[in-house]
Amino acid sequence: MTTSIPTTGTTASLAASRAKLTPMMRQYLSVKEEHPGAIVLFRMGDFFETFFEDAVECARLLDITLTARSKEKDIPMAGVPHHAIDGYLQRLIEHGRTVVLVDQVEDPRQAKGLVRREVTRVLSPGTYVDPEEGTRTSRYLCALCWARPKARASRARKASADWGLAALDVSTGEFKATEGVEHDVLVDELGRLGACELLVDTAGETDPRLQAVRKAFPSLVITPREEGSDRGESGLPTLVRHFGAAEVAGFKTALGLLPLRAADCALGYVSDSWLLPEAPDRRGAPSLKHVERLAAYAPGDALALDAAAREHLELFRGRGSDSSGSFLSSIDDTASAPGARLLRRWLAYPRKRHEPIRERQRAVAAFVGSPSALDDLRQAFREVADLERLLGRIVMGRANPRDLASLRASIGASAPILAAAESVSRPASSPIGDGEAGGLPASDPQPMRSERLAALARVDRLPDVQAWLREALVESPAIELTGPQPVFREGYDELLDRAVEVARDGKHLIAELEAKEKQRTQIPSLKVRYNKVFGYYIEVTKANLHLVPETYVRKQTTVNAERYFTEELKALETEVLSAEDRRAERAQALFVALVERVGAESARISALAHALAELDVLATFAVLAERRDWVCPVVDDSLEIDIKEGRHPVIERCAEELEERFVPNDLLMGDSERLMIVTGPNMAGKSTIMRQTALIAILAHMGSFVPARSARLGLVDRIFTRVGAADDLSRGRSTFMVEMNETARILRSATDRSLVLLDEIGRGTSTFDGLSIAWAVAEHLHDRVGCRTLFATHYHELTELCRDKARAVNRHVAVKEWNDEIVFLRKLMSGPTNKSYGVQVARLAGLPAPVLTRAREVLDSLEAQALSAGNSSAVVHLVEARARAARDGPGQLFLFSPAEPPAPTARADPAETEVLERLRALDVDDLSPRQALALLDELKRSLS
Ligand code: ADP
Repeated sequence: MTTSIPTTGTTASLAASRAKLTPMMRQYLSVKEEHPGAIVLFRMGDFFETFFEDAVECARLLDITLTARSKEKDIPMAGVPHHAIDGYLQRLIEHGRTVVLVDQVEDPRQAKGLVRREVTRVLSPGTYVDPEEGTRTSRYLCALCWARPKARASRARKASADWGLAALDVSTGEFKATEGVEHDVLVDELGRLGACELLVDTAGETDPRLQAVRKAFPSLVITPREEGSDRGESGLPTLVRHFGAAEVAGFKTALGLLPLRAADCALGYVSDSWLLPEAPDRRGAPSLKHVERLAAYAPGDALALDAAAREHLELFRGRGSDSSGSFLSSIDDTASAPGARLLRRWLAYPRKRHEPIRERQRAVAAFVGSPSALDDLRQAFREVADLERLLGRIVMGRANPRDLASLRASIGASAPILAAAESVSRPASSPIGDGEAGGLPASDPQPMRSERLAALARVDRLPDVQAWLREALVESPAIELTGPQPVFREGYDELLDRAVEVARDGKHLIAELEAKEKQRTQIPSLKVRYNKVFGYYIEVTKANLHLVPETYVRKQTTVNAERYFTEELKALETEVLSAEDRRAERAQALFVALVERVGAESARISALAHALAELDVLATFAVLAERRDWVCPVVDDSLEIDIKEGRHPVIERCAEELEERFVPNDLLMGDSERLMIVTGPNMAGKSTIMRQTALIAILAHMGSFVPARSARLGLVDRIFTRVGAADDLSRGRSTFMVEMNETARILRSATDRSLVLLDEIGRGTSTFDGLSIAWAVAEHLHDRVGCRTLFATHYHELTELCRDKARAVNRHVAVKEWNDEIVFLRKLMSGPTNKSYGVQVARLAGLPAPVLTRAREVLDSLEAQALSAGNSSAVVHLVEARARAARDGPGQLFLFSPAEPPAPTARADPAETEVLERLRALDVDDLSPRQALALLDELKRSLS
C-alpha cells in the first residue's frame, strides 16, 4: 500500500486534465459527470471502487481503508468487495446518500480492450428497497409540486390548490397523492408520512416555502428533479405510460393537476433510476406492476394530529429518538409486518366519521366474542410472510426461489385466517354492553354482524397461484438456481428432468472412470477432480508419478502432485458440463416464466395481502381489548366526552411492570365543562390525565376499544397539544417563540369539534406575562372557539376564570398532606387546588434538608406578606385588565413590558456603612480578646 494517501485529488481537477488519464478513469469520469451529486461505485474485478471525494467520504462513512490508484497515485480510492455490496449500499442510503452502481456488463476475459461498464442501478433513500423483509415502517418517496405563480394568482378566483404531494412506497407499491392550500398542512403531512426522500422540481428550488420545509425537516433528503422539456402543464408521461391514458383521465376527476404532476415525478424518478432495463442481476423482466393504483386522499378526512401532538403524545417515538416507549409500540401486537405498517397508518390517519369507525368496532367485537377463532387466526399468521414486499420483489424481478416458496406458504396459511374471519363475521352473542355502558349503540340493527369481516373473508384465496407453485417447486427450494440443491419438482418439466439426469449420470460416469484408472494404473490415491479454470483432470501425487501411463497428457504441476487429462476424460467432461449448463439454463428459463406468471396476478395477490394486513390489525385490537380489559367506546356527533375509569395505556403498563397500581379516573366534559382548568402540584398526574384523554380519543377514532370501564366520545376533528416551554428545554429551541407559534396555530385552527390540551403554557416568560397569556388564551378558547379544552396550569390565579365563565370548570388532581409530606392520590376531583406543594415535591426529589428548611421559611414569609396585602386578588384584577387590553386593543400584542412595581430601593444608613467598612478592613488575628470586646462595644454604640 502507498505510504502517503492523497486526499486532495478531486474529480474536477482531474477532469480538467482528462488527457493524462487512463481510459478506465475516463470511463469513470463520464459516469460521474452524469451523476454529480451521487456516490459512484465502480466495478473493478471483485471490488466496487470509489475515487476522489467519494473515496474520502466512503472511507469515513463505511469505515473502509483509503488507498490510492496504483497507476495514478494522486487519485484517492476506497473499495468494497462486490459480494458484500448490499450491506454497504444500505449504510450509504441510511446516511441519506444517493448511490450509482456501475457494473461490468461483459465478461472481462472476453473483452477486447476496456471492459464495457454501465450504470446498473441508481439508489437513493426513496427508491432503495432494502432486502430485509418484515420492516415495520413504510418508506415513502415523496414528490412535491407547487402551483406556478400564475396559477397562484388566479387561486383567489378559483379555489384550487397551492401544492400537490405524492407518496410512493416502492417496496409495497402503495401510491397516493393529495393536495392543499395551507403550508402548515403540507408540513404536517410530510411529517405524518415520515418521508425519507422528497423530490421537488428544480423550478421551485428557491421557493421560500421549500426553505421552510427544509427547516422543519433538517435531515430529510431533498432531491431536485428537472421536469422534462416535453412536459407541458398537463403532460404526465410516466403516469400515462404506467396506467394508460384512460385511467389517468379518471384520476383527474379525483385529483387536481398538482398532485398528478407530483405523482408523475415520483414514478418517473423510480423508473428512471431504479429499473434500468439491462441490469444484469435481474431475474425476469422488472416492472412496477405492483403499483396498481394512485389513491387520492385528503389529509382533512382523517383526525388531524399535527407534529406537536404526535410528539407530545409520543405517538410514534418515545422520549428517545426511536420507537421504544412510544404509544405505537405499546399497542403494536400485530403478527405480520404488513399488519404493523397498516396499524401505523391507522394511527397516523385515524378516521373522522362514525361509519368506518363503527365498522371496525363491529369487526373487533366479533373477534372479542370468539376467542378460539382469534387464537386460530393468530396462530396461522406465524406462517404468513411479508406478502406486500414479497410481491414487490416478484414484480421487480428480484425474487429468488425461496421467495416463491414463501408466497406458497403464505397463501396456504391464509386459508385458516380467512376461515376464522368468515366464522366470526356471523352474528353471535355480544360481549360488550349497550350504548349506555359503552360498546356499540343499541340502535345498531345487527350489532354483531361484521360486514367488513365478511367482505375481507371473501377475498380471492388464489387457489390457481397456489397450485402452480405447488406443482413447480420442491418442498424447500434452494435460494440459488444454479446450486446443487433442486428448485423444481421432478416431473414438472421434461427438458429440465433430462438435463438433470445427464448431469447426474455424467458425474456417475466420471466416478466410474476414476475407479477404472485407479485399477489400470495401480495408483490408489489417483483422483479425478474439477476446478473452474481447468475443468476435470486426473491428479497423481508426486510419489506415484512413475506409475503414470504414457497416454496421460500433463496439464499442470502443483507442489505435491501433477495434473493430467486423457481423451476419454475430455469427452466425458464436455458431456457433463454441457448438461450442467443446460440444466442451469432451463431452470433459469422456467423460473423466469413462473415469476412472470405469478407476477401477472399481482392485483389479486395484493388484494389478499391487504385483506390479511387488515385482519391482522383488527385481531390485534381484539387481543388488546381482551388482554387489557378495554371497552368499546360509543362514538357520536355530540361535543361531549364521558370517560369512566379511564387509564393511560402506556403508563398503566409501566405501572404494572413495577407492580404499582395505576389509578383510573373519570372525566366528563359535557356542555357545561368545555374548558377544564386542571391544577395540582407537579408530579400529581395532570399531564397523564390529559394525555390519556387524547389517547383514548385517538384509539376510538382508529376503531379500537379503549382503556376505560366505559367511554362515550363526540367525534373530534383535530387534537392539539401544547406543552409549556419549560418542558421543551432539552430540544434547545428558542422555546418561548416556539410555544407562542404553536399556541397561535391552535387559536387559528381549532374548531368547536377540536380537543385541545394545554399543559403549562406561558411558562417560558415572566410570571405576569405568562399568566396574562394563559388567561387570554383560555378565555379565547372558551368564548370564541368553544372547543373541549383541558388546561393544566400552575397559575392558581387562572382558577378564578371559572367564576364568570359558564362553561369553564376547575378540577384538581388530589394529594394528601401527611406530616409535611405529600401522598399523591392521582384522583381528579372537583374544584381548584390552592397549594402547589413545591417544597414537598422538592423533598421527594432529594433536595438537601437545610435547603428545604430555608425554602419553607421563605415560603411562609411570602405567604404571610401576600395575605396581608391581599395580593392574590390584586393579581387577578391585573391579569383581567391585561387580558382585556390584549383582546380589545387593536393590533395590541399579548406581551407587555413587566409591570411589577419597582422594589423600593432602601437608602443606605451612613453609620451602618461605616461599621461595615471598619469590619471589612479589620484583621481579626491582630486583636486580643480584650481589644475585640472593646471594638464590638464601640461599633454597637455608633449604631444606636
Ligand atoms: P404532572 O403533570 O402533574 O406533573 P404527571 O402526569 O407527569 O404529573 O405524572 C407524574 C407521574 O406520576 C407519571 O409519570 C406517572 O408515573 C405517575 N402517575 C400519573 N398519573 C397516575 C395514575 N393515575 N396512576 C398511577 N400513577 C400515575
